Amino acid sequence: MIQLENLHKSYGKGGGHLHVLKGIDLHICKGEFTSIMGVSGSGKSTLLNILGLLDDYDRGNYFLEEKLIKNLTQVESAMIRNKKIGFVFQFFNLIEYKNALDNVALPLLYSGVHHRKSHMIAMEYLEKFGLQDWAKHYPNELSGGQKQRIAIARAMVTNPSLILADEPTGAIDSMTSNQVIRILEEINKEGVTVLIVTHEKDIAKRTHRIIKIKDGIIRS
Ligand code: ADP
Ligand code: MG
Repeated sequence: MIQLENLHKSYGKGGGHLHVLKGIDLHICKGEFTSIMGVSGSGKSTLLNILGLLDDYDRGNYFLEEKLIKNLTQVESAMIRNKKIGFVFQFFNLIEYKNALDNVALPLLYSGVHHRKSHMIAMEYLEKFGLQDWAKHYPNELSGGQKQRIAIARAMVTNPSLILADEPTGAIDSMTSNQVIRILEEINKEGVTVLIVTHEKDIAKRTHRIIKIKDGIIRS
């Protein structure tokens, strides 16, 4: 599913040069449920953003389902992202002026699905995650856990083969965290490859493999 070979990434070419990823080798198979752990600043988000085609890298190779992800145009990477990848963020990144249903439907609209059909599919996903009663509510009327479940529904609505989640429980209490992890477990059981970044041991333990990153290198 994911193959990284000697991947390097730096920020701030020239003046303040910061070498964040210093040769990452990583192989993740289809259907795995994996977590990446590491202290703050160790490059976890940088790595996940590269995997999610939200950022590019300097050196090495990234293969996603055998396709080399390199020198893609913005349109090409947006197309691959829309087709294969769902991204879940620590602070949900929901659109405040759209209700839950419209937030979930948005990726479908981007991929050209008709408005009415996109709402039908989005509603199915809200139902699936027990959120149907919240469809017409706006993000500021929802709890952190509800917002994250809506964000997961949005990530899933295009039926991706890979879910990437950056600290998905980082901004919610531990009881709700448990719900969010359970949803990710469920999604993985349906065959979706799930990769989460976390610095919480209890969360990482719920996954099937823990990858530790330190000083820009994978340690175990
Ligand atoms: P983590 O998610 O593990 O906390 P990050 O990948 O966010 O770590 O950041 C790794 C390092 O790169 C940090 O020192 C951070 O300040 C720096 N960094 C992250 N994003 C940028 C950016 N866009 N520009 C410059 N430096 C960045
Ligand atoms: Mg981070």
